[in-house]
Amino acid sequence: MAKAEEMYQCQSVNCGCIYDPDRGDRKSKVPKGVCFADLPDDWRCPICGATKKNFRPLGGPGSTAAASA
Ligand SMILES: [Zn+2]
Repeated sequence: MAKAEEMYQCQSVNCGCIYDPDRGDRKSKVPKGVCFADLPDDWRCPICGATKKNFRPLGGPGSTAAASA
């Protein structure tokens, strides 16, 4: 299972979509095992269409958890 540091959550209001490298993104034809950093720069949130810049890791430096601590 992916670590929190490898899972990224969309920061867009009312979205909260999580990119899980263990699942990939079927909608964008991203196979399982692709880490967030390796997604193409034009990859968008499958729910709201936000760009990669709108995502933050669930754990580790720069994460949403670290920001609220
Ligand atoms: Zn989103």
